[in-house]
Amino acid sequence: MNKIQTLKAACRTLGLTHTRETLETILHDAEKEGSSYLDFLVALTDGEILYKQEKAKNKRIKEAGFPYPKYLKDFDLDFCQALTIKQFRQLSGLTWIDGLYNLILSGPPGVGKTHLAIGLGYQACEDGYKVSYTTMKSLIKVLRTEEIDRRAKAKVRRIYSSNLLVIDEVGYLPISATEGNLFFQLISELQEKTSIIITTNKGFEEWTEFLGDAALATAILDRLSYQCDKIQMNGKSYRLENRKSFLNDGTDRK
Ligand code: ADP
Ligand code: MG
Repeated sequence: MNKIQTLKAACRTLGLTHTRETLETILHDAEKEGSSYLDFLVALTDGEILYKQEKAKNKRIKEAGFPYPKYLKDFDLDFCQALTIKQFRQLSGLTWIDGLYNLILSGPPGVGKTHLAIGLGYQACEDGYKVSYTTMKSLIKVLRTEEIDRRAKAKVRRIYSSNLLVIDEVGYLPISATEGNLFFQLISELQEKTSIIITTNKGFEEWTEFLGDAALATAILDRLSYQCDKIQMNGKSYRLENRKSFLNDGTDRK
């Protein structure tokens, strides 16, 4: 084995993937620039750290389980009258996750609830937080089946170890008493451990209806609301306002 091969084998043993993959380039650049030993080692370790951070970030994003990417930078605040620029910046800063605050985004379809929730979740992944995304429908399913389904159990375990849980589409489907209780237990146990973003088409007064139990609705809302900002996103549907159509109007028909 020549020296390069020996060094690459050592990098593999030490888990220095980036250094191993770019060894020839790193050496070539250092020789070309006549780097000092110190500069060479700094460049090498910096490269390895950046690579590992990027990899960990991509893993966090993948494992969060977002259905599709949505970014805060694409969120049009002029369209969303529910938030001031200052509030939007405060939310984007994510310090509320450290303070264990919750966020409830409510409003009719198309106003940007999911976009904002996923955008904040993505940003949180970028900033090093562990995030889990789920719709209410699939949350209820994993809570119901965690005892018999290994994947559901893993998902629940991940939720419990997350810094931020996004529960999308709460209130769209009615849930049974058993399911309501499972949801209550989850919310109770996450209190003081995990921040929660909920998107919902229901006002607080309608929670009793979809949970089918006034006492349960009060207990859940009591826990969620303790440290919480509620953003009422009324207004027009972004989808309807920015409707795209595939067909042309036929005026160029021959
Ligand atoms: P909701 O969850 O409230 O039903 P979505 O977040 O799914 O609505 O938004 C519907 C579509 O409109 C998405 O493609 C989303 O990216 C877009 N959208 C909604 N509000 C905004 C906004 N303020 N800025 C940019 N895009 C928006
Ligand atoms: Mg939505």
